[in-house]
Amino acid sequence: MKSPLRLYVHTPFCLHKCHYCDFNSHVFADPPWANYTKALVKELEDYATQPQFSGRKLSSIFFGGGTPSLAPASLFAEVLTTASDLFDFADDVEITLEANPGASEAERFKAYREAGINRLSIGVQSFDDVELKWLERIHSADEAVKAYHMARDAGFDNINLDLMYALPRQSFEQWLISLEKALVLNPEHLSCYQLTVEPHTALHVTHKKQKLALPDENLALQFFWQTRERLAQAGYAAYEISNFAKEGKHCKHNCGYWDYDDYIGIGAGAAGKWDKVNSEVLRYSNMRAPQTYIDAVLHDGKAVNSQETLSYQAAMGEAVWLGLRQSQGVDLLWFKQRFGQNLFDVYPLLTKQWINQGKLEVNGIQLKLTSAGLSLADDISASFLL
Ligand code: SF4
Repeated sequence: MKSPLRLYVHTPFCLHKCHYCDFNSHVFADPPWANYTKALVKELEDYATQPQFSGRKLSSIFFGGGTPSLAPASLFAEVLTTASDLFDFADDVEITLEANPGASEAERFKAYREAGINRLSIGVQSFDDVELKWLERIHSADEAVKAYHMARDAGFDNINLDLMYALPRQSFEQWLISLEKALVLNPEHLSCYQLTVEPHTALHVTHKKQKLALPDENLALQFFWQTRERLAQAGYAAYEISNFAKEGKHCKHNCGYWDYDDYIGIGAGAAGKWDKVNSEVLRYSNMRAPQTYIDAVLHDGKAVNSQETLSYQAAMGEAVWLGLRQSQGVDLLWFKQRFGQNLFDVYPLLTKQWINQGKLEVNGIQLKLTSAGLSLADDISASFLL
């Protein structure tokens, strides 16, 4: 049986490149919206002709970036109209747009709703102006609050706020102030990420020249655990390592990645994957430079930069690696159906080792991290990739 199908749409334009950012984002004063929209539509039309997508419904669509909220609403309307002409939508289709407070206006929010967006993810990061300045974000804390209210006024009833913690010299108390300000707004969903210094970023260069005062392991764990505790008290379940939601408000699109669903990615630098008939997995990513992407798609319908086939063995490891990120863990029956083998037969030593150490447990038909395992989540998940 085929998995739900998802669509990711990347818009790579930003007003400024934040120094910690490793996304495919490019500073453009005047992005070529008309041609970019044409390219997205053409690329989607090309994927719709491929037999592996025939007759399948789209379960979720996610416009990410970059700063998608810089785009005119007509971009979303055209992509969504094309998508609905080419595919059926699931009845409860989730259509998310990432919006940055520094690039948000009330009229635009209304137009996004009219275009069909039904979920907003607002990149707040912090409610402290000094922290926002350090992050090189172009908005203030007041603008973030304003953007949230504008989104509500425009009719959005499913909103996520992105926040970031463990910034240099940030105390836990400082982080709590941002978190509490977010809770006062009462969003349906919160994503709370620890700052990481990614290679190939300006922050990485700074960090190499002069070490940033990042929290040590103990303090980072304090951030992690106390954030979970506070959010649990406030009614947000931690359904993934960094993601918290009120009941029924988890991000379906992101859950699709962790459930190892198929997805089409369109746009500059976007990636996609789908199961092949022999249980191997095909994965691709697009050209990253916006103009190169536009030229390639307008010329021959696609802009794939790299493509690889994951072996059946590698696909199993990847599915466990992703599934363990979720609180519910990996569904053992699903694994058996998807790969034709029992997970414990594929990984006898690894599962035994982690279970004996109290880091993994079996709960009904789910293999999941224990509380002790959560602190080591990255290492444990990654061990299945080897
Ligand atoms: S706004 Fe977001 S995507 Fe753009 S540079 Fe900053 S972090 Fe990156």
